[in-house]
Amino acid sequence: MSTMNSHVILLVGAGPAGMAVAASLAKAGHEIIILNRDIKFGGLAEYGIFPAKLKLRGGLKKQYWELLERPNVHYFGNVSIGNGKDLTVDEVRNLGASAVVFSIGAQGTKAIGVEGDSAKGVFHAKDVVYHFNRLPGFGDCPFEMGKHVAIIGAGDVMVDIAHWLIRYKKIDRVTAIVRRGPAERKYNPKEIRMVCANMDVPGITTEVGRIKDRLAAVGQNADEVLKGLTDEFTKCEPKVSETKMGFKFLASPKRILVDGNNRVRGLEMEDNKLEPKGTDTAAVGLKQYYEFPCDSVVFAVGDRVDETVGLPYKGGMFVTNPSKTSNDPDDSLFQAYDETTGEILAGVFLAGWARKASEGLVGIAKRDGDWCAEVVSRYLATRQPGNQSKVVLDKLKTILKSRKSHPVDVQSLRALEAAEKAHKNATDCIGEFKYASNQEMIGMIERGKT
Ligand SMILES: Cc1cc2nc3c(=O)[nH]c(=O)nc-3n(C[C@H](O)[C@H](O)[C@H](O)COP(=O)(O)OP(=O)(O)OC[C@H]3O[C@@H](n4cnc5c(N)ncnc54)[C@H](O)[C@@H]3O)c2cc1C
Repeated sequence: MSTMNSHVILLVGAGPAGMAVAASLAKAGHEIIILNRDIKFGGLAEYGIFPAKLKLRGGLKKQYWELLERPNVHYFGNVSIGNGKDLTVDEVRNLGASAVVFSIGAQGTKAIGVEGDSAKGVFHAKDVVYHFNRLPGFGDCPFEMGKHVAIIGAGDVMVDIAHWLIRYKKIDRVTAIVRRGPAERKYNPKEIRMVCANMDVPGITTEVGRIKDRLAAVGQNADEVLKGLTDEFTKCEPKVSETKMGFKFLASPKRILVDGNNRVRGLEMEDNKLEPKGTDTAAVGLKQYYEFPCDSVVFAVGDRVDETVGLPYKGGMFVTNPSKTSNDPDDSLFQAYDETTGEILAGVFLAGWARKASEGLVGIAKRDGDWCAEVVSRYLATRQPGNQSKVVLDKLKTILKSRKSHPVDVQSLRALEAAEKAHKNATDCIGEFKYASNQEMIGMIERGKT
């Protein structure tokens, strides 16, 4: 029940950003209704972060359970928002809440748009990560990796995929394809410990030697750069496979080469040089091409938001208000904005990766959620409390029933968790049992009710 000064807030997306918004506004006494595409809460904390990071994932899960068990928080898992989904954006806005926050992450994939990227053996990193974390729709599909996988990218996600390929798939070779040089690598040195036991150091030494003149041209000493790279190969996790991992630097894939069955057989690569760009460097193509043999390719080049949801969208991002405010945090950065009308979408806010795709770790997403809650609170302070939560909840339930949706509440999630824990069949890298399809989860929940 709403108290005198409390508002009803609808929150779409129960990842780290959304859960931070919910925690802050629930603590302030507002009624929070959470709609989440996945049956389970957590977003990438459940389906992105490497499964072996039990401490991080366990800590987050505990916090999220505590939040969801508050009487003023109402959870509806398995409810997707978007055109042709359980509810549209407009329907959510018309449910009668005082504000709506979209914290739906960045569900679109970025590709670098090269010829052949629909060939068999080409994957997007997030799909692979969703697969090994058993997100329904991905966990139950085969992801057939070959023996030599090229991963395009030099960030933490590249390392996570290499980790899975090396420690669990035990393939022959993994090569990270990096547009710039070793000095411009983006991954966290701690993350490389997961895979450094498998580094092909002689191969990496040869590779850095191959590009030494191009490094020297921007004032980088190849020996020092190599030392900086390989010095991080310490405290390596014990080796469990014979997979060799290497790098191809100053390399941009231009085309995916396929065999007669449209299966990857290699990459056509362009050699790059580095050019100074302010205090940083930029990669510039040299128009010199070569073939790089491999049998699978994974693009780990970042994400973009899902433009089909129905929020104003431009260039990979949902649009926010271009008119800055003097508040800190600046309200405009969190306000959804319609460029066609030139107006803010009143009471509609964005947080986390939905606001800035691929921006940082869980801590950053949480901070973004905290900031968004501040902005929403400022907005609520200008408004009279609206509907009681029962009014909004009844309207929502009526629509979901008419759509034959299967929302999942917290009680059902607890039952699901107990059933998964009782399973003895923990498989490969997950180390815990997870139902891989919504059908199995809903089936289990329904059986428990009868
Ligand atoms: C591969 C990978 C590994 C990572 N590893 C780490 C790590 O080790 N440590 C770390 O700190 N951070 C890690 N991160 C970063 C971290 O996962 C993100 O910072 C964080 O999850 C972003 O939070 P978010 O809430 O904005 O989005 P998300 O976590 O993506 O959550 C989005 C939520 O919205 C829901 N949703 C999506 N679309 C809809 C829709 N249309 N309708 C309704 N609901 C919807 C989803 O079900 C999901 O629950 C990793 C990220 C990736 C991709």
